[in-house]
Amino acid sequence: MLGKIKAFIATILLIVVMLYLASHEYQNLLSVLDINNKDIAASIASNINAPRFGSGNNGNNQTFSKTNGTNTTDPYVSNNHNYKSSYINTVNRQIKSGRGYVSLNRILYFYNANPNLSFDEIYVDNLDTDNTQKKISDTCKMDKYKNMSVCTSSAIASSNQIDYKQSKVFNYPVDMNNATITSFFMENRSYENHKAWDIAAKSGTDVVSVCDGVVSTVNFNHSSNYPSRGYGNYIEIKCTDSDYRVLYAHLYPNSAQVRTGESVKHYQTIAKVGNTGNSTGSHLHFEVQNSNTYVDGMSLIKP
Ligand SMILES: [Zn+2]
Repeated sequence: MLGKIKAFIATILLIVVMLYLASHEYQNLLSVLDINNKDIAASIASNINAPRFGSGNNGNNQTFSKTNGTNTTDPYVSNNHNYKSSYINTVNRQIKSGRGYVSLNRILYFYNANPNLSFDEIYVDNLDTDNTQKKISDTCKMDKYKNMSVCTSSAIASSNQIDYKQSKVFNYPVDMNNATITSFFMENRSYENHKAWDIAAKSGTDVVSVCDGVVSTVNFNHSSNYPSRGYGNYIEIKCTDSDYRVLYAHLYPNSAQVRTGESVKHYQTIAKVGNTGNSTGSHLHFEVQNSNTYVDGMSLIKP
C-alpha cells in the first residue's frame, strides 16, 4: 500500500515538473521570437477580413496553374515619394479588407485627371469582379470616368498603362492578418528605388513560398536578430510554375525550414520573419525578378 502511495506521489511530482519545464520552454521561445520591440506596424495589423495567404476563404486552397511565359507588371511611377503614405495606407486598408491589388500607376492615372477622387475610391473602382486589377478600358466604361480626357481610346493607347489582365501566379508570402505593408515596389529612396515590397510583421511570423519552385539559395549567416547590412538572412526560390525568381530577406536567425535544391510548394513555410540585414524593424523584404528584371511582386498575387 505504502509503495503504491509513493509511486502515485512520484508520478504527480513528475507531471508537475514536466508541466513547469514545458511552460518555461514556451516562455523562452516567446521571448526569443519577440526580441524586436519595433513591431508597431505588425501590432496594429489586425483585420478579420484580411486574406490569410491569398485565398478567398481564408484558407490555403487556392489553385495555381502553370503559366507559359510571364507578363510584365505596371510601369512604376517616378518621383513617387510624395504619394508614399497615401498609397501605402490605401493598399493596407484595401488588402486587409480582402480586396486585390491596384498599382500606384493606375491610381495616379485617374487621380491626376481628377484630384477630387480619393485613392481608396479609385482603388476600388479599378478592381474587377474577380478582385484583380481591371483593364483600364473597363474602368473607363464606368459613368464616373467615361467622359474623362484620359479615357479616350487614343489616351489609353498612348499611356503606359497595362491594358490586359495580369495572370496571378502567387499567394501572399505572409498572413496579411498579422502584417502591414511599409514600402512599395520602386518607392523612391535617397540612394535608390526600392526594388521590392516590405511587409512588416512580428519576428517569428511564418514566411511561406509564393510559388511552386526549387530553393536556389539559403543564406543564414546572421545569428542574432539585429540589423546589419544587406539582405541579412535570405532565401531565394526559383519558381517552376512560372518564370519568376523570388527572394525573401531579413529572415530570423536559424529559422530556415528548407535546403538548397529542395522543392517547395505554394504556402509551404520556408522560414520566419526577422530583422537581420539592412532593416529598421522586423519585416519581410519580398523581391521578385523575371530574367534579370525586377517586377512588382504584389501584382502577381492572387487575392
Ligand atoms: Zn525592402
